[in-house]
Amino acid sequence: MSDDCLFCKIIAGEIPSDKVYSDEDVYAFRDINPAAPCHILIIPRKHLNAVNVGNDDDEALLGKLLLKANLIAEREGLTSDGFRYVINTGKDGGQTVSHLHLHILGGRAMRWPPG
Ligand code: 5GP
Ligand code: ZN
Repeated sequence: MSDDCLFCKIIAGEIPSDKVYSDEDVYAFRDINPAAPCHILIIPRKHLNAVNVGNDDDEALLGKLLLKANLIAEREGLTSDGFRYVINTGKDGGQTVSHLHLHILGGRAMRWPPG
């Protein structure tokens, strides 16, 4: 838990969230400002500022984040038509919350390139 981290507070239940999935390592919830019909954030319970600060100790955790995202995408019915994962990283990457989060976006056709 990192003090003053919005997503650590969500994990701790101090800020309410619309939970989609939870286990001992990761937590997933619906984005408060959805950019697609389905917009879910999946985050590690361990506070990491961003995806690129993980080290070898985080190998299993980062793998689990993706595998559980796949499970959520399947449960949300996104698999047949496809979906998009996004991990904004740092200022130019558009990251606004400094706790690693993987966006799961689906339910509409995505555009490319992203803005
Ligand atoms: P970023 O821009 O850092 O990649 O994504 C942060 C995401 O967190 C945004 O899509 C934003 O809508 C979402 N978000 C910010 N504050 C909250 C909140 O309090 N609750 C939920 N559920 N989502 C939030
Ligand atoms: Zn945090």
